[in-house]
Amino acid sequence: MHEEAIITSLRKRRNELSRTLGLRDVKVERQADEVDAIERANELDLTVSHMNRESETIRLIDLALQRLENNEYGICDECEQQISPARLKAVPWAQYCIRCQEEEDRRSTTRGMQEAA
Ligand SMILES: [Zn+2]
Repeated sequence: MHEEAIITSLRKRRNELSRTLGLRDVKVERQADEVDAIERANELDLTVSHMNRESETIRLIDLALQRLENNEYGICDECEQQISPARLKAVPWAQYCIRCQEEEDRRSTTRGMQEAA
């Protein structure tokens, strides 16, 4: 894929995500008027975790755009190996190669469990 095309598709995705995030903000406010507090809290939890994931993706997209500028796009942040084209096609803002990503996921799952305990 040409870099221009990657930049265009990353920017497009970023716009979509920030638009969704903006819409969600309004929705959260409206939910505050509803009666069932527990349900509201659950919905809010879900919304917040969606928002976290969306903000995280936006952050990764910004990083990817930065790396495109620096000619470092497609290089794993952890082991500095080339990220496979198939992975970049599926996740154009991938920060790590599949091996390091799995390692990272394992670490954050462990972190999450420790926080819950
Ligand atoms: Zn790696």
